[in-house]
Amino acid sequence: MTARSAADTDSLAAFIAGMPKAELHVHHVGSASPRIVAELAARHPDSTVPADPDALAEYFTFRDFAHFIQVYLSVVDLIRDAEDVRLLTYEIARDMARQNIRYAELTITPYSSVKRGIPAPAFMEAIEDARKAAEAEFGTVLRWCFDIPGEAGLESAEVTCDLALRHAPEGLVSFGLGGPEIGVPRPQFKPYFDKARAAGLRSVPHAGETTGPRTIWDALDDLGAERIGHGTSAAQDPALLAHLADRRIPLEVCPTSNIATRAVTTLEEHPIRTMIDAGVLVTVNSDDPPMFGTDLNTEYAVAARLLELDRQGVAALARNAVEASFMDDASKAKLAAEIDAYAQAKV
Ligand SMILES: [Zn+2]
Repeated sequence: MTARSAADTDSLAAFIAGMPKAELHVHHVGSASPRIVAELAARHPDSTVPADPDALAEYFTFRDFAHFIQVYLSVVDLIRDAEDVRLLTYEIARDMARQNIRYAELTITPYSSVKRGIPAPAFMEAIEDARKAAEAEFGTVLRWCFDIPGEAGLESAEVTCDLALRHAPEGLVSFGLGGPEIGVPRPQFKPYFDKARAAGLRSVPHAGETTGPRTIWDALDDLGAERIGHGTSAAQDPALLAHLADRRIPLEVCPTSNIATRAVTTLEEHPIRTMIDAGVLVTVNSDDPPMFGTDLNTEYAVAARLLELDRQGVAALARNAVEASFMDDASKAKLAAEIDAYAQAKV
């Protein structure tokens, strides 16, 4: 691989920063920037999360995936009332707009908040208020994926399904499954995905991030997955890659997250190229950006380096996210045209 000059890298970074983008795999609480987390921690002093931004950077250094989940849940614990929810959501959209993210499907775990005592209607009103304000003020369109926190078991699946069906906010488009995969088999969640899909929600479980390809097959066979969160281990199974490519089932790849959680040892070993070479529709995402010291622009730069992409290649990745999104066709065409116009103007 030829080394890019520093000037080329800077110019590609500027191109990426200005490019209109869509993001499909990014978590609500996991998008809380150190500033927002520090504010929430200061409001809730009994929390174990430090309120000082420098101490937070240290706090957000993970030893392994289990430690990441532990830290993540301590931040979840800071979201205690509807105002916390509204502020967090609105501020996330502000950060997205600064990166020229025009559309994002934000994964929310309403179970955690409702369990904490925030009434479901107040929770839904808070995210919807933030969504409408963000669209009007920042021009960033938000949609929701409600996900089951796998570590909380079937009771959380029942509650999440009920929230998605009986309290569905206007922006809800999909139903997911997150948390640890080891010891949390996907098939047990089939009844809840069946119900959510019957109600018109799209199926987007995490699978194959910390476990092998069997989990991804389970997500496809039992949960009707229409996109796969991460799907990192798909690269180990050529038949699975061929299946994903044939069915045009996208992968939501989050390179820096995979390193931070030790799902992949080094970026150089990341299987993104194997996925692309197999013809899979790959999208690039940030997962829990401030927690992993990244953002979507950085993830595009990482992908560009690993895949040796030029500007047109980067724009093609951005179009993948539009294609893989749950936007309606007219909105897809509009954002894809925006990306094309941007890329052509910069040639
Ligand atoms: Zn995720």
